Amino acid sequence: MAQHFLLTAKARTLSLAAVMRLTDDEAFQTFKECRWEGGEPNCPKCGSLAVYTYAARRIFKCKACCSQFSVTSGTIFASHKLALRDYLAAIALFVNGAKGVSMLQMARDLNVQYKTMFVLCHKMREAMASDQMDLKLTGTIEIDGAHFGGTIRQENKVSERIDRRLKRHQSGKRRAVVVMRERGGRTLTTIVKHEADAVPFIVANVQAGSTVHADEGAAWDALHGRFDAHRINHSVAFSDEGVCTNQAESFFSRLRRSELGVHHHFSAQYLHQYANEMAWREDHRRKANGEQFNCVAKLAMAHPVSRNWKGYWQR
Ligand SMILES: [Zn+2]
Repeated sequence: MAQHFLLTAKARTLSLAAVMRLTDDEAFQTFKECRWEGGEPNCPKCGSLAVYTYAARRIFKCKACCSQFSVTSGTIFASHKLALRDYLAAIALFVNGAKGVSMLQMARDLNVQYKTMFVLCHKMREAMASDQMDLKLTGTIEIDGAHFGGTIRQENKVSERIDRRLKRHQSGKRRAVVVMRERGGRTLTTIVKHEADAVPFIVANVQAGSTVHADEGAAWDALHGRFDAHRINHSVAFSDEGVCTNQAESFFSRLRRSELGVHHHFSAQYLHQYANEMAWREDHRRKANGEQFNCVAKLAMAHPVSRNWKGYWQR
């Protein structure tokens, strides 16, 4: 069957209006094409291509192992409660938010509960993160860290205010996001309590012998030896003969704007999800939103039902 317009090369730009105009059949067709090569279903249990289809219902039955399945079985959309078209619309809204998108706003746009949208968005983030798995960075990599969360609200009266710099007054929820950005390549993030804790992750995910650029932070002293490490002292200059962490700073700029302008707060529990999402957006920012839609839809369809996000709420 001919590919649906949404998935063709012509659909470089994607409008939400185009998604909302899809008929139920077209949405079903689009889901099939995102999930299976050429839209031809194969059994999620045994992989057999011999499959019965039904005229009246949108389900399939495997001729080999007799198991029944739907287009969403085994994906993050399994046992779905919304219309297939609404899921496609959710993906479109999600990719269109350059600095992330408020889940409350999406819930209002699609007329579903906030909880439903919260879980769906986190499932999409998880699927996007699967695109970053097993990546090994090479070449020149910029490394930097920034702190998020753990803010303590000041009391109203001056006499009751505390010195928030003191350790005993801190919540312990503050975390460092450490980013590794390969120049002309991909972005990886990790969440740690202190920047120095990120060194094992860097060692595991950056090819030995690569060139790394980092700032003067003492945590990065450990990178010398294993890597060709160069340091830039930010109190002297931002860039010195090509040594800089500007790409890493640009990632933090996006993550910070997402925190302040869209989500208002990142809890330590979900910080890794938001950091992964922003890394994905940074890496795909030059792609047309139609391509981004395709990419996220395919990742979501290929991603198995999450163990973390079962049903409407967390396990
Ligand atoms: Zn089967």
